[in-house]
Amino acid sequence: TVNTNGQLSIGGVEVKDLASQFDTPLFVYDENHLRERCREAVAAFGADSVIYATKAFLCKAMAKLAYEEGVLLDVATGGEFHVALSAGVPGNRCVMHGNNKSVDELRMAITNNVRHIVVDSFDELNRLEALHAEGLPAPRVQLRITPGVHVNTHDYVSTGQDDSKFGFNLNNGDAHRAIEQARASSAVDLVGIHCHIGSNVLAIENFEDASKVMVDLFASSGLQELTLGGGLGVAYTEKDNAPTMQQWADVLKRAASSLPPTARVYVEPGRSIVAAAGITVYEVGTVKKIDGIRTYVAVDGGMSDNMRPALYESEYEVFDPERTTADRTEHARIVGKHCESGDILVFDAPVPPNIAVGDLLVTPVTGAYGYSMANNYNKVTRPAVVFVADGAARLVVRRETLDDLTRLDV
Ligand SMILES: *Cc1c(COP(=O)(O)O)cnc(C)c1O
Repeated sequence: TVNTNGQLSIGGVEVKDLASQFDTPLFVYDENHLRERCREAVAAFGADSVIYATKAFLCKAMAKLAYEEGVLLDVATGGEFHVALSAGVPGNRCVMHGNNKSVDELRMAITNNVRHIVVDSFDELNRLEALHAEGLPAPRVQLRITPGVHVNTHDYVSTGQDDSKFGFNLNNGDAHRAIEQARASSAVDLVGIHCHIGSNVLAIENFEDASKVMVDLFASSGLQELTLGGGLGVAYTEKDNAPTMQQWADVLKRAASSLPPTARVYVEPGRSIVAAAGITVYEVGTVKKIDGIRTYVAVDGGMSDNMRPALYESEYEVFDPERTTADRTEHARIVGKHCESGDILVFDAPVPPNIAVGDLLVTPVTGAYGYSMANNYNKVTRPAVVFVADGAARLVVRRETLDDLTRLDV
């Protein structure tokens, strides 16, 4: 919200106070917003039907929050699973994903009693056979199917097309072969099928197309569980339009309406739970006006805390939290402090006039795939993360120190 002083405020705390208390760059999440998004998803899809894709944003506080809100957790590596377990989330509230799970990751999933494992390949089925032969119990599994559906999103996050590293291809017969093999095996308890067509999907028809294919396969399979993935897009800039959680639910429910009431349908939202709940706060360190070309505004973070512009040419808006309502009459490229020209946060941002060294800048909608992709490029320390609610801020991930940067050196 913008308060009566024209100051950007989150969870009842002014962003400028957060910056002076916790320093910059800083990830700030509105905790009530996170909780409301979880509740909205549970209300739209039903209890124990929503699986939060933790790769979008994970720390112990987030894992605990999702668990408290009745949301299951999708973990795609042993590392994500470890964080969820460390936060006190029971193994059976987690679902194990990944296109190349190691034997150790599979063993960890089974011994910690995950709700189910989403099996991605024949090699993984073989590994599960070997673990069963070692004496481990047969886990409940779903098979990830690649339905052969193209979505309108960046190629790097499109996962449901035939040419994909994910899942069992439906069109070439692999999906049917995998279902037969899993059904015949005593090493796994095949309970369902799964698809996830991609990320930041803004066209609701894409979900409709994939769901139809999956519902047909599911109906003929006689299985009990169907997961229709995540991928609901969000609005990053003024010109974006994203479907609501309810619109997404309506489309999936319509597609699944022919199924018997005993069928359990899961969804796996990641981005749509956390993206809009978070902002990043930076401080301006350099302003460089190149006459006739452009103005570069450099902040104290960059591609180490937000990889998305460099990876996908993603667009963001930027605001001065102390002049939130000011007309943004000038243009600038907002860049970071890394040694690359591709270290861009906003390619061509409308900004208020006279941005100066020491000003704060905020990029909204950085709650997903920001901190989770953060890195130490140039030995930059990763930012702190705070949750704010009801006028109080709490640190949930501390800022890295210089000593953290040599912690792994031997
Ligand atoms: C990433 C992922 C999701 C979540 O995707 P979002 O676009 O963040 O909603 C869901 N399921 C699987 C298997 C994923 O890999």
